Amino acid sequence: MFAFSLRLVAPYWKWLAIVIATMVVEIVMTLASPWPLKIVLDSVFGAEPIPPVFAWFTGPVTDRLALLNIAVGATVVIALLQAAGAYLNAYYTVSIGQWIAHDLRQSVYAHLQRLSLSYYDRHQVGPLISTITDDIDAVQEFISTSLLDLVIDSLTIAGMLVVMLSLNWRFTLVALAVTPLMLIFVYRLRAAVKSATHDVRRRQSELVTIVQEGLGAIRVVKAFAQGRFERQRLEAKSVESVEAALKARRVRSLLGPVVTALVALGTAAVLWFGARLVLEGAMTAGALVVFLTYLGRLFRPIQAVARASTNIAQATVGLERVRDVLDADDRLVRAPNAAPLGPVEGRVEFRDVTFGYDPSRPVLRDISFTIEPGQLVGLVGPSGGGKSTLVGLLARFYDPQQGAVLIDGRDIREATIRSLRGQIGFVLQDTQLFHAPVWHNIAYGRPDATRDQILDAARLAQAHDFIEALPQGYDTVVGQGGLTLSGGQRQRLGIARAMVRDARILVLDEPTSGLDAASERLVFEALRRLRNGRTTFVIAHRLATVRRADVILVIADGRIVERGTHGALARAGGLYARLLDAQEQEEEERPSGPERL
Ligand code: ADP
Ligand code: MG
Repeated sequence: MFAFSLRLVAPYWKWLAIVIATMVVEIVMTLASPWPLKIVLDSVFGAEPIPPVFAWFTGPVTDRLALLNIAVGATVVIALLQAAGAYLNAYYTVSIGQWIAHDLRQSVYAHLQRLSLSYYDRHQVGPLISTITDDIDAVQEFISTSLLDLVIDSLTIAGMLVVMLSLNWRFTLVALAVTPLMLIFVYRLRAAVKSATHDVRRRQSELVTIVQEGLGAIRVVKAFAQGRFERQRLEAKSVESVEAALKARRVRSLLGPVVTALVALGTAAVLWFGARLVLEGAMTAGALVVFLTYLGRLFRPIQAVARASTNIAQATVGLERVRDVLDADDRLVRAPNAAPLGPVEGRVEFRDVTFGYDPSRPVLRDISFTIEPGQLVGLVGPSGGGKSTLVGLLARFYDPQQGAVLIDGRDIREATIRSLRGQIGFVLQDTQLFHAPVWHNIAYGRPDATRDQILDAARLAQAHDFIEALPQGYDTVVGQGGLTLSGGQRQRLGIARAMVRDARILVLDEPTSGLDAASERLVFEALRRLRNGRTTFVIAHRLATVRRADVILVIADGRIVERGTHGALARAGGLYARLLDAQEQEEEERPSGPERL
C-alpha cells in the first residue's frame, strides 16, 4: 500500500518539494512563536541574556525598550511567515490531492473499460461507480487535508521535543508522562475506526446500487407500481448506512474527551513542577511559558492525528477498494504476436468451439461451421439455446474454452481486439443510444465519419426523414427534454450506426423483436440495404425472416442440431420443421382475433 501511494505521488515531486519547503518554514515559525514572549518575560523584565538564535539577528542589545520592540516585531514577522507558509502549503497540497484523484479516476476507468465482459457478469456496476467517485474522493480528501497535516504535526512534535529537552530534560520527561497512554489509546482506536469505516463504505455502495437500479429501470418500477417498494428498499439500506456511520462515529467520539482529560493531567503536572522550579530559581518564568505553550501544541497534533483517523481510515479503505479494481485481472489473453486484422473478405469459421460462461457448464458444445464471404446465415432455435453467445464469440466478448474462431482463415485471438471488432457491425435487439446529438450517435462506431457519410447512412437506414422531423434535426440531443425515440426509430438509428461502420461482417441479433408490423417492415427494408453483400449472421425468432438464408443453423442446447437451407430443413422433418409448423399455425390463427391471448 505504501509503495502504491508513493507511485501515485511520484509525478508531483516538484510540488511536493515546494510543500516540504513551506512546511519547514511553517514548523520553524511554530517553534519560534512563544519565544518573543519569553524574551519579554526573561530579558525585558528579568536579567537573562537574549537567547542565542535571536542574538544572531540582533547582536547584543542593552536597551530594554529596544529589546521589547524587537520582540514585538518578531511576533509579527513570525506570524506572517507562518501564514505565508501555511497558504502555499495548503494550495499545493490540495493541487497534489486533486491531480492524484484525477490520475486514479483515469486509470480506474481505463482499467474498467479494458476488463472483459465476464468481469461484469460477476460484478455489479453500483459499487464500481461508488469506487470511482466516493473512494477516490476519500483518497483525495485525505491527501489534501490530513496527510500533510500528519507530516507537519509529527515534525513539529519532534522539533518541540528537541527544544524542550535542551531547555530542561528532566522537566520534559514529567511533561510527557501522559503521552504513552495517549498513543496507545489512539492506536487502538484506529483499528476500530477502520473496520467501522469499511462497513460504512460497503453500505454506501449498496445505496448507490439501489438508486442506480431503481432509476435505471424506472419504467419497470412505474409500470409495476413498485415505487413504494423501491423507496422502502432505499430506506432500509439508508438506515443501515446511518447506523454504520453512527457506530463509526461513536468509536471516534471517545477520542476528543479522553485526549482532553489526559492533556489536562499533563498540563497540571507541568504547572505544579514548573512553578516550583521557577520559585527555586532553577528555571525562568519565560521558559515555563515556552513549555506550557509547547505542551498545548504538542497535544494538539496528537488530537489532530486522532481526529484524522477517520480520514485515514476512509482513505485506506478507499485505496484498498481502488486497488481491488486495478488488480482485477480479467482481460482477454493477448497473443504476443497479435497483429491488426486488415480489411477482411468475411469468411468465418468456427472449429470445434466449446464455451461456457462458467467453464464447467458449457453453453456451446463442439460448434463447427464455415461461412463463405457474403453469405447470409440464419441462426434459429429455442431461446436460451446459445445463439447470442455464439455471435458474441465472433467479436471476442469471450474466448472459447476449446476450439477456435477464424476470420479469413486467421485465428481471431491473433488479431488485436480493436481491429477485430472494427470488422464487425452489430444491430442488437435494443439499440442503446447515448445522451448526445443524433449525428454523434450514428457516428459512434466510426468517429471520423464525414457528414455526408452520416447522411447517407441515415437515408439508407430509413432514418433520415424522422431525424429531419426532430426539433433540431441531426443536432437533437437524444434523451433531452423528454425526447425519446420509438423502438423502430432506435433500431433504424442502430442500423445507420452499423452502416457508417461499414464492416464486412454483420451480426443482427433479433433486431426486430418487439417491433410492430409497420416498424418491422421499415427496419427490414433498412436491413436489406445494410446487408449489401456482407457476411451476415441473423438471429431470428420468426423463421420467415431467414427463409432466404444461404444456410440456416438450428441451435438447441448449445449444439448445432440441424443445418441446411430452408427448403431442405423443412423437408427433413426435424426440429426446424416442427418450429416451422408451430409458427405457421400461429400465423394462420392470428387473424382470428385478440381473444386468443
Ligand atoms: P439465445 O440467444 O439462444 O437465447 P444465449 O446465448 O443468450 O441464448 O444464452 C445461452 C445460455 O447462456 C443460457 O442458458 C443463458 O442463461 C446463458 N447465459 C447467457 N448470457 C450469460 C452470461 N452473461 N453469464 C452467464 N450465463 C449466460
Ligand atoms: Mg439471444
